[in-house]
Formats: sequence, C-alpha cells, structure tokens
Amino acid sequence: MGPFLLAFIIPMVLGFWAQHRVKSTFAKNLGVRIANGMTGAQIARRILDANGLNEVPVEETPGTLSDHYDPRSRSVHLSTPVFHEVSVASTAVGAHEVGHAIQHAQAYSFFRFRSAMFPAVQFASNIWMLFLLGGIFLNILGFIWIAIALYSIAVLFQFVTLPVEFDASRRAKQQLQDLGLVASNEATGVNSTLKAAAWTYVAAALAAVAVLLYYLSLLGNR
Ligand SMILES: [Zn+2]
Repeated sequence: MGPFLLAFIIPMVLGFWAQHRVKSTFAKNLGVRIANGMTGAQIARRILDANGLNEVPVEETPGTLSDHYDPRSRSVHLSTPVFHEVSVASTAVGAHEVGHAIQHAQAYSFFRFRSAMFPAVQFASNIWMLFLLGGIFLNILGFIWIAIALYSIAVLFQFVTLPVEFDASRRAKQQLQDLGLVASNEATGVNSTLKAAAWTYVAAALAAVAVLLYYLSLLGNR
C-alpha cells in the first residue's frame, strides 16, 4: 500500500486541491471589476498590438478555463467569461495567453522545445499502455521497458511545460505593468489568479513522475 499511496493517492489529492483552488480563485477574481474597463479580449488585443503581433487573432472558445494559445494557427483563444468580462481574472488570463504568443514570436527556448516534443508525446501517450499490457500478459520484459521509456517522454513533457507556463505568467505581469493596465491594488488578484493556474501544472508534473517511479519500483522488484 505504501508505494501505491505515494504514486496514486497523494498526487490525486494534490490534483483535486489544485483544480479546486484554480476554480475558486478564478471565480472570486472574475467578480472583481478592474479599473481599466477592458474585457479579457480587449486586454489581449492591446498587449498583442503593443508587441507588434497585430496579425495574431483573439477568438472566443466555449467552456470555462479552456483558454489557450494555439501555436499552429498562431491565435489566442479565450473562454467566454474571460473574453467578455471586465475583471481582474479576465485581465490575468487574457494577458497570460498573450504571454505564450510573445514566447512564440521571440522563439523562447522552452516554448520551442515543448512544441517540438508535442508530436512525439501524442504518439507515446497513445501506445505506451499497449506495450505495458502486452508486456504483462505476454510476460515480455522488453515491452514493459519500452512502455516505461514511452511514458517517460510524457513525463518530460509535463516538466518542460512548467518553465513555459511560469514564463508566460511572468511576461503577462510585466506587460500589464508596462502598459499601465493594472493598478497596484489589483496586482495581488492578478498574481493569485496566475499562481493558482500554475499549481495545476505543478500537480500534473508531480503526478506523472510519481507514476513513473512506481512502475520503475515494480520492475526493480521483479
Ligand atoms: Zn499557459
């Protein structure tokens, strides 16, 4: 029970905690009106234009916390509340997604590395379980090692995501400050919104590495 607890239960609890925290922090700051009077979409547009990224579109995407930057189409996608609301949360999230667009434009190293890894990660995520199950049922140790090697690619990806996310938030805060879009009494709410989002990525990375160590320990016991 010890290793299983460490590998699955604790990361799961940490993951739930991070998810709950990001939702509650976002909801709270969505209710705080921001003095700049701009929607998340207008904030994103303003920062993009200030950085010469006039050709990068800002589009509305359904759902909540579904905000993202799409490197393939070079476009910023904001969820309905972020797109339309004038709030501390929509300012924070809108600026963060533009942070990724700036990373892309400036060829930020971790952003490039993460994008380059993406096809391999998708491939590995789809087939690692087949090798694991095949290895167990056919009793072929080599298959299990292949499964673990493939799973390691996904784990590495989760860790490469961390500097990319932290850097996007750092850029967001810098842009908001430089363009005078956030008053000093509003900065705390922006920071806590961005920090809560960052914790979900930390939790995911820890969960992934815990599972990897668990499989390695099972192999070690054989
Ligand atoms: Zn991000």
